[in-house]
Amino acid sequence: MNDITAAVAALKEQLGDRLCIMGHHYQNDAVVAHCDVTGDSLELARRVPGVDAEHIVFCGVFFMGESAALLAKPGQAVHLPEPGADCMMSLMTPAGLARRVLEQLTATGRRVVPLAYVNTTLGLKAVVGEYGGAVCTSANAETMLRWALDQGDGVLFLPDKHLGRNTAQKLGLAPDRQHILRLNGHGLINPESQPLERPLLLWPGCCAIHAQLKPGQAAAARAAHPGCRVVAHPECRPELIERCDAAGSTSFLIKEAARLAEEAPGSTLIIGTENNLVDRLAARHKGRCHVLSLGRAICPDMAKVTEAKLLATLTAIAHGTAEPLTVEAALCGPARRSLTRMLEVCGQ
Ligand code: SF4
Repeated sequence: MNDITAAVAALKEQLGDRLCIMGHHYQNDAVVAHCDVTGDSLELARRVPGVDAEHIVFCGVFFMGESAALLAKPGQAVHLPEPGADCMMSLMTPAGLARRVLEQLTATGRRVVPLAYVNTTLGLKAVVGEYGGAVCTSANAETMLRWALDQGDGVLFLPDKHLGRNTAQKLGLAPDRQHILRLNGHGLINPESQPLERPLLLWPGCCAIHAQLKPGQAAAARAAHPGCRVVAHPECRPELIERCDAAGSTSFLIKEAARLAEEAPGSTLIIGTENNLVDRLAARHKGRCHVLSLGRAICPDMAKVTEAKLLATLTAIAHGTAEPLTVEAALCGPARRSLTRMLEVCGQ
């Protein structure tokens, strides 16, 4: 155990029940090793309301910390070891622009329900809450899209067009019933020339990290590893997902590796997602299942939370000098509605 690891462990011991460290599966191994709770975005959102600790240290990117702060109990402090870790995709949907587009889409009286991937800012979640919409994660996107389609005349899915299209495909919603919006900084470009009457309207954003993975890599992996199984996260391009054996959320990918290690020892699993998770699964199942990455996909923001930064946060908490995350009070009500709608629809 190195000095930093030992110091984090000592502070955890000292803070005891006053502290809960939560971390996303995509964090690096040294950080994950200290977490009391790990999960994907949905699991972490579900767990926050049940945490009683005075301090929640959230190891993840900024939007995840904001969601934790929204769902935390009054008086609970949420701390981010690296507040500068942002999700590039979450910045693709400025709240003001989303409001403008929703105003344009609903100007004729059409009821368009926004459905926002959890990878969005607090401001965007507030706009979604105001318009009667909800948040979703990759684990419940199908359930939530089905719900949203039942609510009104159409759905605006944002910001990830790939997740939107992959989810629509699972629901059997044909491409000609979808439309990727053409936007500029002021709103819709020539709205009259766009097929806005389609039931699924998609914001033109995506995760640049997952989008690096290309369809040809699935074929290359099969050629290099005959008989392998190829799976990917639904933030990847639909053209890649079509060439995979299966696709699903982070939790699905973790379970798939465990299943193969158990049921088909010696087999090879190729995973298309952020590489930190793939590396951890490769180490976990070494000797039973060969887990390999489909290709390079490293999120610089996820890697910003380090064990040293976690130590600095715990030290500040122990000294009473930590500055918890603050969220803009006016946005909390509507943003929380968009999150709690998801938890309600998904039976939580
Ligand atoms: S991998 Fe993509 S979705 Fe995840 S935090 Fe990085 S940019 Fe955001």
